[in-house]
Amino acid sequence: MPTVDFTLRWADGTEQRCQSPSTAIERFLAEGATYPHEELLRRADDGLAAASRRVVEVYGMACTAASAQRDAIRASVRPGPVTVTRLHRTPRRVRFPAPPRLDGHHEVVVIGGGQAGLAVSHGLLERGVDHVVLERDRVLHNWRDARWDAFSLVTPNWQCHLPGHPYRGDDPDGFMVKDEILAYVEPYAHGKPVYEGVTVHAVKPGFTIETSHGTLTADQVVLAVGGYHVPRVPYPALGGLHSDRYRNPDALPDGPVLVVGTGQSGAQIAEDLHLAGREVHLAVGTAPRVARFYRGRDCVAWLHDMGHYDMPVTEHPQGKGARHEANHYVTGRGGGHDLDLRAFAREGMHLHGRLTHVQDGTLHFAGDLEANLDAADATMERIKDAIDRHIAAHGLDAPTEPRYVPVWRPPTDGSGTLDASAVSTIVWATGFRSDWSFVHVPDAFDADGHPEHLRGVTDEPGLYFVGLPWLHTWGSGRFAGIARDAEHLAGVIGARAARPQAA
Ligand SMILES: Cc1cc2nc3c(=O)[nH]c(=O)nc-3n(C[C@H](O)[C@H](O)[C@H](O)COP(=O)(O)OP(=O)(O)OC[C@H]3O[C@@H](n4cnc5c(N)ncnc54)[C@H](O)[C@@H]3O)c2cc1C
Repeated sequence: MPTVDFTLRWADGTEQRCQSPSTAIERFLAEGATYPHEELLRRADDGLAAASRRVVEVYGMACTAASAQRDAIRASVRPGPVTVTRLHRTPRRVRFPAPPRLDGHHEVVVIGGGQAGLAVSHGLLERGVDHVVLERDRVLHNWRDARWDAFSLVTPNWQCHLPGHPYRGDDPDGFMVKDEILAYVEPYAHGKPVYEGVTVHAVKPGFTIETSHGTLTADQVVLAVGGYHVPRVPYPALGGLHSDRYRNPDALPDGPVLVVGTGQSGAQIAEDLHLAGREVHLAVGTAPRVARFYRGRDCVAWLHDMGHYDMPVTEHPQGKGARHEANHYVTGRGGGHDLDLRAFAREGMHLHGRLTHVQDGTLHFAGDLEANLDAADATMERIKDAIDRHIAAHGLDAPTEPRYVPVWRPPTDGSGTLDASAVSTIVWATGFRSDWSFVHVPDAFDADGHPEHLRGVTDEPGLYFVGLPWLHTWGSGRFAGIARDAEHLAGVIGARAARPQAA
């Protein structure tokens, strides 16, 4: 059973390292959250009691570690706010143990054991290309540890077709929840040369790969480290937690919650909190939205038929600019539905304009709320227009459907202020930035430091990217397109490996 390490920072600055014998504690404490000390004690008591009950269920005997930990926390209590500075599952590395030391040479080193790294490994195994996959945490770390409890795919299950590993469940039009995603992808790692718990610190031309477990050399390197590296927290002094640390409504301190950002994560987390009856403030940004279903089908299915998932980035009207656009918000939760922020507002959610700045503990919002809601709706309706045209052009028989009519209009422009003390927590759903500083190969990046490549193949011979949003098509950073990209790269790598190298 995975344990959870967590660190408390008491009001006087002292830090206390703690451990829960089960993940049950995650329902009571959130990393980054600050609780009044009385609430922290109550939550720690309840969380450790729940963890202890879980141990009894699994092992049939009581857990003394949980009660000892509870006593230790009570003995250390300091009055005032307490912050959970770290809350992290202790990885179980039973399946793919890290070797005591890594050295020697491989034809290919794949960095990252997410779906992209595993998909490339599949293609290399098929071609008999010698390689290893290095994963700093556990395989599928981000699906397991960086998504909230109620997470479900936004994309339908039929789009999950990893090379040699299609979705075989009985709900192709449904949306897998977190555990189902892991159950689908985890078996894919078996039989692949994966080392878990190995962090790559540097990739140098040639290639030299410096890791936490030694230095390797390779003829070719695949960077499969995903596109979401460093959580963006614009005002860290305000505390709170980034969306990748958000788990569930119960783990947040009592009181109103401010969610900043309405991309995929922000809109879904706001809904998660709203459904749990929490008072939610939402800073609405400029992300577009899409309807879940239209004219009898999932919009993703229509867009697939219309060729949107086949369009290469080179043909996209925005070109490479598409790589930096926010995703359309919608959800797969409970079988899938629209995320209508106006409906949330009608039900009591407080909508604000975009967060512009913070001064002396006061959050300031722009007067763009109505414009942002209108723009998101307009995108949704434009997509429906395109679907209508597709249906008409192909003479398809599809039920008609009335168009969206706004169910609420903001009484103000959404500008104004909110004192940070008016909310107990801020959830920063403000995206991620890339960090490629460990890749010391300048030719692989453009002047702005963004990966420079054609379908993942860089100007540095033998160096590749995979799994990035719009690497090649819309689905490149998702399940939908990873098979095509990984197969392409495996082919390029295999051909290069087969070529006699210059002496
Ligand atoms: C909130 C959210 C919702 C999403 N929803 C969907 C969805 O509905 N449908 C869909 O298809 N996609 C979705 N995605 C996108 C995408 O499928 C995931 O981001 C997916 O995890 C990408 O897989 P990957 O293998 O490219 O990268 P990752 O899963 O990020 O894997 C990269 C791996 O590299 C490891 N790593 C990083 N640096 C190093 C290093 N220096 N050394 C060793 N290892 C390293 C990491 O630990 C990680 O395990 C979503 C993404 C997010 C953030």
